[in-house]
Amino acid sequence: MTKQIMVGSVPVGGGAPVSIQSMTNTRTDDVSATLSQIRTLAAAGCQIIRVAVPDMAAARAVGKIKEESPLPVVVDIHFDYKLALESIAAGADKVRINPGNIGSEDRVKAVADACRQRGVPIRVGVNGGSLEKELLAKYGRVCPEAMVESAFGHIRLLNKFDFDNICVSLKSSSVPMTMRAYQLMRKQSDYPLHIGVTEAGTVRMGTLKSAVGIGGLLALGIGDTMRVSLSADPVEEVYAAREILKAAGIRKEGAELVSCPTCGRTRIDLISLAGQVEERLKQVDKPITVAVMGCVVNGPGEASAADCGIAGGVGEGLLFRKGQIIKKVPQDQLVDELFALIDTL
Ligand code: SF4
Repeated sequence: MTKQIMVGSVPVGGGAPVSIQSMTNTRTDDVSATLSQIRTLAAAGCQIIRVAVPDMAAARAVGKIKEESPLPVVVDIHFDYKLALESIAAGADKVRINPGNIGSEDRVKAVADACRQRGVPIRVGVNGGSLEKELLAKYGRVCPEAMVESAFGHIRLLNKFDFDNICVSLKSSSVPMTMRAYQLMRKQSDYPLHIGVTEAGTVRMGTLKSAVGIGGLLALGIGDTMRVSLSADPVEEVYAAREILKAAGIRKEGAELVSCPTCGRTRIDLISLAGQVEERLKQVDKPITVAVMGCVVNGPGEASAADCGIAGGVGEGLLFRKGQIIKKVPQDQLVDELFALIDTL
């Protein structure tokens, strides 16, 4: 088991449930826009939020964001240790910074001391795209071994100043490389792992890559907190993360949709029907399985493992529960009837 750190009130590692993270894409110094996005993400199921801190205005805004944020706030800092110190003083719950990139050791010590005093953990975030030159020269290319060695370089610097409240990420845009790097790291240390595939892409491809990479790691028992990185509204990252956790069998809460692949018997627009049900299910947090099936003959039987569902016919469909037909419903009322049934479950 990994060690446990606390990100604000959210435990990460040590057997705690895998938490969902996302990152705001508003200007951090626009406090009201950032808070509004944080609230939206929290409502979607995000549990830890990260904000970029590229300058002092952003670092100073962290205090105001913290006052009202419903989620623990992680500050993302590159190179400038003063931004880290300012953000920590402002109440950041965690700092993502690579100590090897912030210059002299007294700067590392200053950040480590400030974090230790406030019980703030640091994430060492290795990115395959920005490995140290020496490691690239040593290994000749970006590879999992080089990524892990990079992580240990940063960790050693923190350990030197008696700081061990650490979690680690080893992201790459290559799924196999990311997976191997995390596996290697897990073998060699018990630091909690923040997992993700970086620069994964748009909603479709990014979700697929993340599902394979993050889902694959979770299936191996690796990963304590996760972020799906998408070139999209961050709320999509949270939805994707929830689905990956569900598909990996890690989380039971929230409804799961099953729908048939359609075939020559289908006489309804099943794809649009499944889309409508999927959208409305985002608001349902009961641990139920809901089926949307394409024909009344085989649908209820094929979906008998689902808690409830609908099967479409010509002009009308069936509402069923655990494979048993409850009633016939006109097609345009199928979705509403289904959700009325879900309300009673
Ligand atoms: S439920 Fe009906 S329409 Fe859907 S795949 Fe099965 S037989 Fe075909």
